[in-house]
Amino acid sequence: MSAPDGVPLAARVPTPSARHAVGHAAEPVVVAGLVPLSTCDWPGRLVATVFLQGCPWSCTYCHNPGLIDPRTPGSVAWAHVRDLLARRHGLLDGVVFSGGEPTRQAGLVDAVREVREAGFGVGLHTAGAYPRRLAQVLPWVDWVGLDVKAPPGRYAEITGVPASARLALRSLRLVLDAGVPVQVRTTVDPTVLTSDDVAELTALLEGMGVRDHVLQEVRSTGTRPAYAEALAAARS
Ligand code: SF4
Repeated sequence: MSAPDGVPLAARVPTPSARHAVGHAAEPVVVAGLVPLSTCDWPGRLVATVFLQGCPWSCTYCHNPGLIDPRTPGSVAWAHVRDLLARRHGLLDGVVFSGGEPTRQAGLVDAVREVREAGFGVGLHTAGAYPRRLAQVLPWVDWVGLDVKAPPGRYAEITGVPASARLALRSLRLVLDAGVPVQVRTTVDPTVLTSDDVAELTALLEGMGVRDHVLQEVRSTGTRPAYAEALAAARS
């Protein structure tokens, strides 16, 4: 995922080598990182942001490549998130689930319900890779930041996965039909997308009924070295 203001998240999340693995017993979700107070992950809200491990895609510009491998153990026990929320009643508006791809984990549904039942709002950052799980959690979600990465014909060049455009647009349709407030974010990768591609995507989103679409400039911080080189070359 990418932050709404385009700031890479890598510096905010421990790298796998820096983590201390936590056990998985009775953990609803595998948590790779926790930011206890964020003002940028859900516009206008003070939140704690929980980063879930694992993503099925491998985007060119991923700022959190250490969060892609689903076999990497978590570094924050869910009980720690629970304790934080117990201490922050009245101080936090909600919790944002980010990643990685948070909808990859089956336990997201229980984690989201627990946060809502504790009296907090729930925000979700997703790239829409798992529409069926998204549909399961949407009834407990108050706001979605949805990455839509490219017009359909260029999508796989960003994600490396042929079905990714279909899944992302199906997820967007689900969110729009559910009436959950959504901000669609597009990180513009100049190594793949042209200005015509961006115009095509913008028109597609407007036609689907998207009212809040943010274009983000890609940054090299936290990306793989080969991508950082390709980005520098594309900008030179
Ligand atoms: S969807 Fe892409 S950018 Fe987001 S975590 Fe997965 S690989 Fe990284």
